[in-house]
Amino acid sequence: MPDSPVSIDLGNQLVFLGTGTSHGVPAIGCGCPTCTSDNPRNRRTRCSLVLGLPEGHLLVDSAPDLRTQLLREGIGMVHAVVYTHEHADHLFGLDDLRIFAHYLGSDLPVYCDRQVQDRIRRVFDYAFDPASRAYPAGGVPRLTFRTIGDGQSGNGPIRILGAEVVPIPLQHGRYDVLGYRFGDVAYCTDTNGIPASSVALLQDLDVLILDCLRQRPHATHFSLDEAIETARRLGPKRTLFTHVSHDLDHDATNRALPPNMELAYDGLIVPVGQ
Ligand SMILES: [Zn+2]
Ligand SMILES: [Zn+2]
Ligand SMILES: [Zn+2]
Repeated sequence: MPDSPVSIDLGNQLVFLGTGTSHGVPAIGCGCPTCTSDNPRNRRTRCSLVLGLPEGHLLVDSAPDLRTQLLREGIGMVHAVVYTHEHADHLFGLDDLRIFAHYLGSDLPVYCDRQVQDRIRRVFDYAFDPASRAYPAGGVPRLTFRTIGDGQSGNGPIRILGAEVVPIPLQHGRYDVLGYRFGDVAYCTDTNGIPASSVALLQDLDVLILDCLRQRPHATHFSLDEAIETARRLGPKRTLFTHVSHDLDHDATNRALPPNMELAYDGLIVPVGQ
């Protein structure tokens, strides 16, 4: 294993690693028009993105597709991770973070709330076993938690990799999850409700990245109509929809969307002003 990674430098950009719902698109065994489409933009891996910040690359969630996503984009280094919530489609690629602690020569910083941290400690218990931590570097994920939402930081802005990051509390059905604001870009996946106090944190955006699952309403995600209405209410310059299911064909949906709103797609790159 090399000691220093080969990687593109993201600079002030973010890359959509995945834009699909929890099953991914195509869904296993599905013969619907979207899942059998030969349009590459109808191929959606599980939801994640990575940003270039002043002091390195920040990964948002570790989807089950993490390894193939990073290889696909030529991203060989991640310097810190932040989690939106604990669901499997956002978390279960965590074991592939092993290599970054090896490259860093120290534990990988992981920013998340207490609930996500507890889930990680249960699901990836081997990573916190003192015996396995004695393995050679790269054997188990080596993580250092930085808790968001504790008594000290509340939900106010936090500093990650030289940038100010604002946690945005969101409702995801009955779950409390976090979106994040990075400068004039906000990432609000896995939500169907934005509390008034969070609406105040989402003003004057250049880019809003928002959950948009399908046509019909859903218990924990915005439908297309709800997502459009929410984007109109928040008024960003540009809205990109993510966490998209096979219900929405990329080109047909984009043709019908209002101006300045579009479905994101895997590999889409967006500038991030700081
Ligand atoms: Zn999800
Ligand atoms: Zn399908
Ligand atoms: Zn979720």
